[in-house]
Amino acid sequence: MLLPKRPRRKKSRDKAKEAITVTGEKKKKIIKTIRIDVDKCNGCRACEVICSAFHAAEKYSSNNPARARIRVIREPLTDIYVPVYAGDYAPAECAGRDKYTIDGKEYDECAFCRASCPSRDVFKEPDSGLPLKCDMCEDDPPQEKPLCVQWCLNEALIYEEREDEGEEEGKLEDMEIGLESMVDKYGLQKVIDAIARMSKKG
Ligand code: SF4
Ligand code: SF4
Repeated sequence: MLLPKRPRRKKSRDKAKEAITVTGEKKKKIIKTIRIDVDKCNGCRACEVICSAFHAAEKYSSNNPARARIRVIREPLTDIYVPVYAGDYAPAECAGRDKYTIDGKEYDECAFCRASCPSRDVFKEPDSGLPLKCDMCEDDPPQEKPLCVQWCLNEALIYEEREDEGEEEGKLEDMEIGLESMVDKYGLQKVIDAIARMSKKG
């Protein structure tokens, strides 16, 4: 399936190129954030569609919101639409949970949690169960803005960058996050044995 890019806003490729600022030999850390204006979200789920399409095995070959790294808490009857981004993988459920009531609307205990964890199915690959995490649409060449931001016609998602004093740290790749979760689930030796068997099969 081909999903054309929405030519909605003026391009600023220079901004994407500025993502890493080099000072001397050291790379400064750039903190990328997406500010969420909940009042503007109408629950259209375009962000889920484009995120899953962008991360399909062959880019834009399919889309399935269950694979998206952003999920919209969507309850039209109570007028609730809140986008939540996938954060870090959590190997264990947390012991305590919070219940939120905002403007008289009640949200589920885990509603705003960004973790992929054993207690629920969100932010997991539906087939493999491997954790999903928002990677800010890393691409080569870089996207001018994350795809969900570009596709949110209501401007409920606002992309922002700021420089941090620290140096840039190495990030875990999707594959490493997946491996970490497999090791947590099955143990290191079983994962090593499985990889050894697979490599023998060629
Ligand atoms: S694309 Fe924007 S308006 Fe639509 S569900 Fe996502 S955040 Fe909300
Ligand atoms: S920034 Fe990219 S990876 Fe993250 S939720 Fe949006 S579309 Fe998905």
